[in-house]
Amino acid sequence: MAAQFHAGAPNLSIAIIGGSLTGLSLANTLSAHTVHVYEHSSTPLTLRGGALGAVDVDLLHQICPKTYKHQVAGHGHFYGDLWGYLYAGLKPGQVTFGANVTGIEDAGTERPRVAFNGGVSEPYDLIVGCDGGKSIVRQYVTDQMPTYSGYTVWRGLCRADDIEGPPSGRRQVRGVIYETLGFPVSVPRGYMGTEEGVLWNCGIYMAMPESMVERPVRNRQVGAATIEVPEWFHEMISALFDRRTASFWRNCAAKGKVTPHAVWELACKRVVKGRIALAGDAAHMASPRTGAGAYTGMRDAVAFKLALEGGGGLESALEMYNTDVVERGEALFQRSRAAASSFAPGEPGDVRMKPQEVVAYLKAKGGGREL
Ligand SMILES: Cc1cc2nc3c(=O)[nH]c(=O)nc-3n(C[C@H](O)[C@H](O)[C@H](O)COP(=O)(O)OP(=O)(O)OC[C@H]3O[C@@H](n4cnc5c(N)ncnc54)[C@H](O)[C@@H]3O)c2cc1C
Repeated sequence: MAAQFHAGAPNLSIAIIGGSLTGLSLANTLSAHTVHVYEHSSTPLTLRGGALGAVDVDLLHQICPKTYKHQVAGHGHFYGDLWGYLYAGLKPGQVTFGANVTGIEDAGTERPRVAFNGGVSEPYDLIVGCDGGKSIVRQYVTDQMPTYSGYTVWRGLCRADDIEGPPSGRRQVRGVIYETLGFPVSVPRGYMGTEEGVLWNCGIYMAMPESMVERPVRNRQVGAATIEVPEWFHEMISALFDRRTASFWRNCAAKGKVTPHAVWELACKRVVKGRIALAGDAAHMASPRTGAGAYTGMRDAVAFKLALEGGGGLESALEMYNTDVVERGEALFQRSRAAASSFAPGEPGDVRMKPQEVVAYLKAKGGGREL
């Protein structure tokens, strides 16, 4: 028989699927309960990533006050530093790494279980999907899926002590803005071979048709594919921007890393169903231009704690959480749509010129600038 719980009382048993920024934020804010995190990566994520340009350090402190140090100070915020900071707030053994969650058993009951690595966990009072844009938990809450914004951010990471940067340029072609920019980020010395511990973290906002991008659906190749930068990418940059910026991106691709990140957007109209909930990118996805994806996930973590402390029953706490996340997710979505009006004007689903067609168009015009 299912136990009776009062939201304010500690010791709900809670499974969090996904141990990135949202999952670890939530594990910190729900420390009054028995929380376990299932993370697909087989190793800690202290050496993952590039940078986030904007992080609310006060919010970070609110989530994890005990271990606050100025680890995350610097130019941009290195993902691995943020992750390490949040991880340090947890108890040993709270995260199972190498946990490939494939679904939820007994999802419609008050004691759902996590299916992972061919087995099934003990029952939990709550399961929260913090498993990002390709969430597999989302399907237990809603049929909604992310929609493609019409543009992709090509991200570049390379040593700042080796390559002159950052890139810089903005160009309008037939009403569409193409923009490249970057900033330095402090990383651990030796990361990607850097001697000074500084990388260039860069991007290009580039309209691309949906047929050219991968869908945000989790499959067995997740994280495994190595993407080769196509030659048209460099032709496109040469056609759009100055020689220095074109040279930067060639060097970055040759010596560092360049990867496409299609911008998907989502604002779930429900983020709770029974004892399953969503948080972070699993619940809402927005353009990096908003600088607020991780921030919104962290706010979800605080909202969850406040809802559970609210003094009502568990169902009303979950409803309170649902209302809060849905409202903030919708506001974030609107900000994301506003950004898309520059980089992919029109409606999602409108057909865009392929970058190769843009190159041909600019060549035919003799490279004349439109701005
Ligand atoms: C170029 C770029 C710049 C950005 N800049 C900013 C910024 O400046 N400020 C900001 O606030 N936000 C920024 N964002 C957004 C931010 O990075 C994301 O919103 C944030 O990382 C989402 O965190 P999350 O924990 O919800 O999901 P994710 O970071 O996607 O993590 C999901 C986790 O779940 C795990 N997982 C997935 N599936 C499973 C499974 N089946 N089983 C087990 N584990 C699983 C994954 O391994 C991963 O660790 C930026 C994003 C991009 C692309």
